[in-house]
Amino acid sequence: MPKTDPKRPHILFLFSDTGGGHRSAAEAIIEAIELEFGEQYSTEMVDFFLNYTPTPFKHLPMLYPKLVRVPQAWGLGYSISNGHARARILTASAWPYVRRSLHRMVANHPADLMVSVHPLANAPALRALGRNRPPFATVVTDMVTTHALWYHHLADLCIVASQEAYRRALAAGMRAEQMRIVGLPVADRFCQPPGDRQTLRARFGWPAERPLVILMGGGEGMGPLEKTARSIAQHCPSAALVVIAGRNQTLKARLEAMQWPIPTFVYGFVREMPDFMRAADVLVTKAGPGTISEAFIAGLPMLLYSRLPGQEDGNVTYVVNEGAGIWAPNPEKIGTILQDWLAHPEKRLQASAACQRLARPQAARQIAHLLIETIHNREKV
Ligand code: UDP
Repeated sequence: MPKTDPKRPHILFLFSDTGGGHRSAAEAIIEAIELEFGEQYSTEMVDFFLNYTPTPFKHLPMLYPKLVRVPQAWGLGYSISNGHARARILTASAWPYVRRSLHRMVANHPADLMVSVHPLANAPALRALGRNRPPFATVVTDMVTTHALWYHHLADLCIVASQEAYRRALAAGMRAEQMRIVGLPVADRFCQPPGDRQTLRARFGWPAERPLVILMGGGEGMGPLEKTARSIAQHCPSAALVVIAGRNQTLKARLEAMQWPIPTFVYGFVREMPDFMRAADVLVTKAGPGTISEAFIAGLPMLLYSRLPGQEDGNVTYVVNEGAGIWAPNPEKIGTILQDWLAHPEKRLQASAACQRLARPQAARQIAHLLIETIHNREKV
């Protein structure tokens, strides 16, 4: 969609639905821009893979759930491509194939600021924009062990969530003055006062008196969700269980067809994640950065049952070292740890306090301000 209102500066967000985190981050920043600046800026999101790359790249959002189901292969791809020089070779070799469509994207979506929330968007978008371009910002949506593809020396601004991500940025050739450490942008609804848990549970039809466990695997319902759900149901007879299968429709149908020994509620992709988290006592999740940042804000202690090798390794270390959760990559172990947590609420409370310490509820709004400054800094030049 071309820029429609010449009086309002236009901000274009490049994302793709490879996982749920890139979309969530872009939406959270857009919401924060509206909350902080009203209608002064117009915004737009473009799934650059789906809409502006040729086959086979355009199928990546569709193929992503299948690719990440083989975590070893994913981890190998991550480590082979990670590194300043290797990342440059990779993007340079893809350029002849994506050049025409990305030039079309830039022509179709004139903007006063372009923001990438996807590691694979940076180099091709900057190249397609050329010399006479609007400012370009990257918001890194991985938390700790960030890939070199996130970092492009021509970006005017690059926002990361942790010291380790900052260190990696410098190692990948970024200059300190391009960088800001803020936090992962999270939707404003996660940042509202907790509200009444019982009212929320009544709204969703969940039992008020049982400890409530949410089990999820990112936007795609990844990892051994079914086995983990069965283990929880077996080890924790006093609990109620909410399983979120995300976009994994096959898994959702399978879970719905099963008989459960405890009250169990199965969902596909839900839009009410903030209220789900606020109504729950424990989160069992893949170590996705978006989900972890949201759980920090909700003060929701975590059991991490799986991670994407490479990009999510650091998230596990971070959560565990800070005392916000436990790494338990085995359905049986999840069941027994959860049993222990339910019997000892003080352990959960300790982890919940650690979450609150790590929470960055202002991140989206701070990012909104940094982006707007970037537009105005360019106007002054
Ligand atoms: N999410 C959601 N509804 C769902 C499942 C996930 O809104 O049913 C959101 C979740 O709240 C988070 C994002 O999708 O914001 C998942 O991001 P994360 O970085 O945790 O994992 P990814 O899916 O990118 O691997």
